[in-house]
Amino acid sequence: MTYLLNEDFRKVLEYISDKKEFTEKEVRRELKIREDEIRKLLYILEENGVIYPLNIINNNGKFDFRWGNRVPNKKEFFNLIFNKELDKIKKEIEDTPKTIYYCENCNLGYTFEESYENDFKCRECGTILKEKENFRIIELENIENNILLLKKNYIPEKRVSKARGKR
Ligand SMILES: [Zn+2]
Repeated sequence: MTYLLNEDFRKVLEYISDKKEFTEKEVRRELKIREDEIRKLLYILEENGVIYPLNIINNNGKFDFRWGNRVPNKKEFFNLIFNKELDKIKKEIEDTPKTIYYCENCNLGYTFEESYENDFKCRECGTILKEKENFRIIELENIENNILLLKKNYIPEKRVSKARGKR
């Protein structure tokens, strides 16, 4: 659902976070993660405007791809990608109806509009629909909490100033 919850992806993020440039081969060699996995993540980051393609390296017919990082600072890098993802989830929570109308007979959920149009009866079997909390909201809130927890690992809140020297 969100790429930040993928452990392999986070290894790659950690690796590239403070680099101005990197190549796919280098990431693969350093982290032993599959090429298609790496590429999947790099495309997500490109879409988010965090990295950009630089050039193609031809090593005797074996191609490698060099990427540039727009935010080559670990703290800023993670701040940016975590906040982008949190904004996306918040927006999705706002756009998702809080309640659904549910048929226990067919295990089908309807939006308010859909059930209103059909007198709050199931379109399949005619059973009176029950109002229920939309499970999707709970799911999204769980994801949001997980991202917030993760974010703390990467961007510790600055209360303790002596932690600064630690690496
Ligand atoms: Zn039904």
